[in-house]
Amino acid sequence: RSAAARSAFDGRGVLSDGTEVPLLANVGTPEDARTAAAAGAQGVGLLRTEFCFLGRDKEPSVEEQVEQYTAILEAFPGKKVVVRTLDAGADKPLPFLTDTAEPNPALGVRGYRTDRSVPGVLARQLEAIALAEKATDAQVWVMAPMIATTSEARDFAAMAAAAGLRVPGVMVETPSAAVTADQILRHVEFVSLGTNDLTQYTMAADRMMGSLAELNNPWQPAVLRMIRYTVEGARRAESEGAGPRNVGVCGEAAADPALAVVLVGLGVHTLSMSPRGLAAVAAVLRSVDLATAQALAEVAIEQPSAEEAAAAVRAQLGVLA
Ligand code: PEP
Ligand code: MG
Repeated sequence: RSAAARSAFDGRGVLSDGTEVPLLANVGTPEDARTAAAAGAQGVGLLRTEFCFLGRDKEPSVEEQVEQYTAILEAFPGKKVVVRTLDAGADKPLPFLTDTAEPNPALGVRGYRTDRSVPGVLARQLEAIALAEKATDAQVWVMAPMIATTSEARDFAAMAAAAGLRVPGVMVETPSAAVTADQILRHVEFVSLGTNDLTQYTMAADRMMGSLAELNNPWQPAVLRMIRYTVEGARRAESEGAGPRNVGVCGEAAADPALAVVLVGLGVHTLSMSPRGLAAVAAVLRSVDLATAQALAEVAIEQPSAEEAAAAVRAQLGVLA
């Protein structure tokens, strides 16, 4: 399947009834960005900026950051690139920013939280992202990781605006962000579901522990319900007068073809994944219409376990996924 699907990929995600589901790439380096563009990705749904910071003992200068971000944006002229600000801590420790002696690093100072403990790094990064945007013609969206409260989303939006960045958003990777998505989306224009962490935090199961893989599975109906809640929150914000609010997924879940169908059925608008997953996801999306995806999402969400949810959906989708 994969070789045939890959050769047929034309860069678009579209259901059999014509519903468009933009398929974007997760990238972590300038080289990744070129690979993703060559694979036909129509943009970047998650640029992990840690590559610029990891393995160093001090913060890279604004100039260095501008150079690196520009190299990535240049691979996507005129296209959307969602730049995530630094997600240090937990599985991505950084000596100058995070405390490795925390008793529970996944629940500690990570992501956006480092702006409180070490102010300045985030503002300088936003400045570098804005300068890179000016140097290219990519459409930059900027988002913060590990947001847990509406006030954090509001404060991040203000920082992005102060740097001259026009499209602020946040990741939904904590249950608190999922259940307050309606409030959060009054302050930011989009959310991106990080299903890797959202699964870890919803299931209270460490993503680094292979022995918890059964719990740490994005097919868990509890995780699917968090996603549905987030989509409903976005609709509520829109109905209360916010403009259009995009809900994307940028965790590994988006690259599982059967799960991608469920995510679309739950109301997710865009899917972002590592480029090698794009063709297989595009192929399965072409095989279903929106009503079928919605019915399959309903089937999945009613199951008692991740395993049964995946099996039930795969059985109905047949050989495609
Ligand atoms: C996620 O948590 O799903 C995500 C996309 O971010 P990361 O894997 O970098 O934590
Ligand atoms: Mg994450």
